[in-house]
Amino acid sequence: MGCIFCQIIAGKVSSEILYQDEEVIAFRDINPVAPVHLLIIPKKHIPSLAHLPEAESPLIGHMANIANQLAKREGISESGYRLAISCGEQGGQEVPHLHMHLVGGRQLAPTFG
Ligand code: 5GP
Ligand code: ZN
Repeated sequence: MGCIFCQIIAGKVSSEILYQDEEVIAFRDINPVAPVHLLIIPKKHIPSLAHLPEAESPLIGHMANIANQLAKREGISESGYRLAISCGEQGGQEVPHLHMHLVGGRQLAPTFG
């Protein structure tokens, strides 16, 4: 499987893993755009948000909950942060494995690029 995130999950590509359970794993983005830039991803290979089966939509809530916990651990819970899921080409998704960005630690621009 050529998916870079599946390789991280399998431990074949190293990353700074901050959290994992049966369903999700979280690690630092290799190219951070802010002092805190983490990725929360499902262990199951789901190509994008658009491919998420309706029955598995609680997974997004679980990912958001983990993001909240990690934001606290990273000390940005009070200052604020952004959760973002890019979906598809025009959504700016580069890695075709569903992931949630947790970005914070500096003032973010109010608009989308
Ligand atoms: P996207 O643009 O698809 O929403 O976000 C993909 C993110 O994955 C980017 O922020 C990119 O820096 C990150 N990324 C890509 N390859 C790797 C990798 O091998 N390791 C880690 N930790 N992050 C990666
Ligand atoms: Zn994958």
